[in-house]
Amino acid sequence: MRRIAWKAGARCAVSIGIDVDGESLWLSKDPENERRPGVLSQGAYGPKVGLPLLLEMLERHALRATFFVPGWVAERYPEVIARAHRMGHEVAHHGYCHEWPDPDDPRGEEARFVRGLEALEHVTGQRPVGFRSPAWELTPRTLPLLREHGMLYSSNLMDDLAPYIHDEGIVELPVQWLLDDAPYFMFQTRVPSRPIWPAEHVERAWLEEFHGLYRLGGYFNLTLHPQFIGRPGRLAMLERVLSRISTYPDVWFASLRDVATYWRDTHG
Ligand SMILES: [Zn+2]
Repeated sequence: MRRIAWKAGARCAVSIGIDVDGESLWLSKDPENERRPGVLSQGAYGPKVGLPLLLEMLERHALRATFFVPGWVAERYPEVIARAHRMGHEVAHHGYCHEWPDPDDPRGEEARFVRGLEALEHVTGQRPVGFRSPAWELTPRTLPLLREHGMLYSSNLMDDLAPYIHDEGIVELPVQWLLDDAPYFMFQTRVPSRPIWPAEHVERAWLEEFHGLYRLGGYFNLTLHPQFIGRPGRLAMLERVLSRISTYPDVWFASLRDVATYWRDTHG
């Protein structure tokens, strides 16, 4: 891999993307969940408890993250989302109510995209520039839609270790299941699910991958969910991972917006 010239001579870039799904993850899976307060409470834990704890932890380390928020969640929990924005974190687009995009419904996709955008702008007073599809999936309509609405980046695809630019001019900030907390921590009772394991297993996986990416000079784009990572023991694990990463020289910690801006300015 060609060595990437990261900002200010950094060897590697690190971003923390936090998908604040709240109850919308469960509502989009099954509308019947609206009548299941127990199921929904798994999601409510995110904005109510996990997110404030994450904000405190990020503040202790003077780190700025990117919060991907469905418009529905911003409308239901405006205070904590506005607080994250006031603290200097980026608030980005994560659909309206966590809908899976349907390639056969371009009008519906556009309507939900616009509704989500407007909800976020209403709560933070600022128009988001980044988009993460709730399913990490795109349709033929998605990238043109981002371009038409003046968005800067997408963070959805898994086909590189570094950012790149789509034909539509949108910067892609690649993700990976390996660097997502959900596959390790999401526990489901109605379908076969992974057993619950100690968080140190994830700590090893993430540091292993960070070390590899650091050697190559790639982009470590971590994906977190307050409803999963926001448990006290897991947050302590995350804090250990971030502390360990910050001991490496020449690491650039940046929001996804800052990485995308840098990439557009240097590669666009
Ligand atoms: Zn999500």
